[in-house]
Amino acid sequence: MHELTVTQNVLDIAIEHARQGGATRITRINLVIGEMSSIIDDSVQFYFDFISKGTMAEGAELQFRRIPAQFRCSECGQMFTPEGDDYRCPRCAGLGIVTDVGSEFYVESIEVD
Ligand SMILES: [Zn+2]
Repeated sequence: MHELTVTQNVLDIAIEHARQGGATRITRINLVIGEMSSIIDDSVQFYFDFISKGTMAEGAELQFRRIPAQFRCSECGQMFTPEGDDYRCPRCAGLGIVTDVGSEFYVESIEVD
């Protein structure tokens, strides 16, 4: 139930931000998800609808922005986004290593009433 935990975090963060801004209702939450993260959009929305009931975020729409994965070349250090299943460096053909870029999951912004 990985998604349930992260969705609870999203809800907590959104409510905290909304309260700080003096808002009473959250209408939309903009999320960033890295391509490499194991988060599934549909699950997050599903859990969100469930756990946000009775909160100021009830009925809020979740908006997902996907970030492409980035690899770093083990030979020359070049950062690149792999094309399909080819994980080799476009500059020197060295082997690409997975980086943190593409495994993000965070709240980018919220929209409130
Ligand atoms: Zn390289």
